[in-house]
Amino acid sequence: MYKLTQKSYIAGTWVSPKGEAFQAQNPATQELLSEHNNCLESEINSAMEAAQQAYPVFNQLSPVDHANFLIAIAEEIEALGDQLLEVCNQETGLGLPRLTGERGRTTGQIKAFAEIVKNASWVQASIDTAEPERAPLPKPDLRKMLKSIGPVAVFGASNFPFAFGTLGGDTISALAAGNPVIVKGHPSHPATNELFAYAIGNAISRCELPQGVFSLLQGNAIPLSVQLVCHPLTEAVGFTGSLTGGRAIMDATAKRAKPIPVFAEMGSVNPMFFTNNVLTQSAESLAKALAGSVCMGTGQFCTSPGVIVIQKNDSFVNTLAETMSANPKGIMLNAGIGQAFLKGIQEFIATGEVEWVNNDEASLTSTTDNALLPPNVVLKTTASAFLKNPQLQSEVFGPATLVVECDDDVQFTQIAQGLEGNLTVSIHAVDEDNALVKELIVLLEQNTGRIIFNGFPTGVEVCGSQHHGGPYPASSNGSTTSVGIDAIHRFTRVVAYQSTPAQLLPAALQNANPYNIVRRVNGKFSSQSI
Ligand code: NAP
Repeated sequence: MYKLTQKSYIAGTWVSPKGEAFQAQNPATQELLSEHNNCLESEINSAMEAAQQAYPVFNQLSPVDHANFLIAIAEEIEALGDQLLEVCNQETGLGLPRLTGERGRTTGQIKAFAEIVKNASWVQASIDTAEPERAPLPKPDLRKMLKSIGPVAVFGASNFPFAFGTLGGDTISALAAGNPVIVKGHPSHPATNELFAYAIGNAISRCELPQGVFSLLQGNAIPLSVQLVCHPLTEAVGFTGSLTGGRAIMDATAKRAKPIPVFAEMGSVNPMFFTNNVLTQSAESLAKALAGSVCMGTGQFCTSPGVIVIQKNDSFVNTLAETMSANPKGIMLNAGIGQAFLKGIQEFIATGEVEWVNNDEASLTSTTDNALLPPNVVLKTTASAFLKNPQLQSEVFGPATLVVECDDDVQFTQIAQGLEGNLTVSIHAVDEDNALVKELIVLLEQNTGRIIFNGFPTGVEVCGSQHHGGPYPASSNGSTTSVGIDAIHRFTRVVAYQSTPAQLLPAALQNANPYNIVRRVNGKFSSQSI
């Protein structure tokens, strides 16, 4: 069993930073947990300099050695055993079954990256051979591939302490591409962060890699985050969290003398459209299933359904409200998130256009005493109010959903057109709705990362064809995904080699094709040697 130290981990050394102290809270008992201290500029500098030194060695690892490192990380996470689950449960209140599942998803994700790193195919090698006789000008030999980008700063979210945490998808995809990673630990679960740092430290030692490949900076101070992303040696940022946090990181990074890419995956309201025909057939069962999706994980998922578009249907709304009220209350991740949830509900009601269907304001006031245990909330508004008030598209992170009642199909399409960027949009429809649904799809393709049919947005499959991203404000770059193996492409840069002597080319671009990878050779995909 690892003995927790409340320290930060800078390139293989545990340090006690001198910044202000902070404490996480057990959301189930409200007990304050061990004190940690904020890292300061000196720790950022040490971590970044070590990362810069480690980079040339780390990025030249053979595919097999690189994959073995990732496997070693997964093994070291597994070796933490129940301690990881128990410590994290204390800090997040997410419960052991959920955390056990999330740990499996996290180590599974790491192993999937190890697989693609081992076969080296992710580099998207492309070769155009020379045509010296071409007239009027000879064509040079040109070859290109993806290469690592350099030290990456990573910020995880509180609601996925494993899958989007210290060794979550952002860190692992950056490491898989050959980049050192410096994590700014989430202050809601610092002991969990420390356990992960211990695990990756062991993996680094086992694989005899330079220690600067990984550092963990604990802290909860905004200047720490800003200094990290503005450090001259930081080459990219991976962020998962709220729109407020992501936007702050994007804005701070935009002021750098040298711009760098920021891949921020942020909040989303994940609208769902239910056609009249589908509700005529199964209003009650869909309302019950929807209540389950909204309340899952106390609504603390970036894919939680926050906007429900229907034509007026009292049976659907009443069943949704009754089921949500009957569902047990869940625990919020931390007091800040709980308070933001209650404030969000109050702000919606304050517009004068939103009705709280399954409760009243008196109950909201009484719950402010314990923001960690909020009610399950169903709100309702009209399509015209929704269309004229952009605030109603804000994420209220927690167990709440806003039903938007339309007068007709025309308002359905107006809403589809007026949506901001979202990670997902779902459509529940039957065959007779195909004309309407086709119209919706054309509009939703403009503002949505993933369109789901007759399903619910919670539960994200981790596989190669997954796309977890969307136009702003869902993410800073709708072309990339933070889930699935394509997440690796974010932390890379293309390098082309022109007329390069054969013996100087990277192995992936050599004529012999030593890794047997599929390459585009003179416009055709092939795994043959040249
Ligand atoms: P958060 O408050 O934004 O925290 C994420 C990180 O950003 C933390 O390290 C936080 O550190 C830092 N941060 C927050 N505000 C900042 C600011 N103004 N300046 C600099 N750094 C800042 O997010 P969270 O509450 O933990 O997570 C819940 C949110 O994440 C929800 O909105 C959810 O939808 C979203 N999420 C999105 C995805 C996705 O894939 N799109 C996945 C999971 C969660 P400090 O607290 O120290 O400032």
